[in-house]
Amino acid sequence: MSELRFSRVLLKLSGEALAGTKKFGIDPESVSAFSKEIAEVVRMGLQVALVIGGGNIFRGMAASAKGMDRAQGDYMGMLATVMNALAVQDGLEKEGVQTRVMSAITMREVSEPYIRRRAVRHLEKGRVVICAAGTGNPYFTTDTAAALRAAELHCEAILKATKVDGVYDKDPEKHADATLFRNLTYIDVLSRRLQVMDSTAISLAMDNQMPICVFNLFGSGNIKKVVTGEDVGTTVQGGE
Ligand code: UDP
Repeated sequence: MSELRFSRVLLKLSGEALAGTKKFGIDPESVSAFSKEIAEVVRMGLQVALVIGGGNIFRGMAASAKGMDRAQGDYMGMLATVMNALAVQDGLEKEGVQTRVMSAITMREVSEPYIRRRAVRHLEKGRVVICAAGTGNPYFTTDTAAALRAAELHCEAILKATKVDGVYDKDPEKHADATLFRNLTYIDVLSRRLQVMDSTAISLAMDNQMPICVFNLFGSGNIKKVVTGEDVGTTVQGGE
């Protein structure tokens, strides 16, 4: 247990993580793979809150670009995150991890309502709290939900899982000469418009001095490496 550098973290998984190599939907093999990695750190004693995205199913902004009312699309996006949360709950339970899905949009039959104090209690008991439906408000993203939940649940860091190794100066999937940053400040991210999280999420993390560790979810063992202090990915913090 002593090798952990955090006692409680907020892990942000984008919807893409659930789609695996496909662009859309839920790939059970990917869910199973990262569930195993989460289970390993939970067994080490780490308290984990999860925020799940919905981009593998529905994004409000994309729908509004095609003419749908933005808020209507955003509510659909939030509902998509609930489906993802249930899929991740299934994956984690198969690994023997105790979980609770807590939704910002009340859906009593499949989840608990999100109640901060109750979420903290679940974490203290070693249950993974899967936060669904983002912030419950349109015009936000699940990245902002991650920064919000991390702050109010007194997490020590946001672990932002992506499909690349960290934060680069340009898109590494398009530019072979892209350079990986190891450390950045919040202001660096905002002023250089680096693709880490949206600006609302970064500002919230900055205001609460919440470090963000960006790492590759598909690199085997990376979650454990991040929480035990191995040098992976990019850390965003400080700079004031
Ligand atoms: N969403 C929202 N409010 C929130 C969180 C999410 O309206 O607090 C909607 C929004 O339409 C968003 C969609 O849910 O596009 C899916 O979330 P997101 O795009 O953040 O998922 P990710 O990119 O992480 O897969």
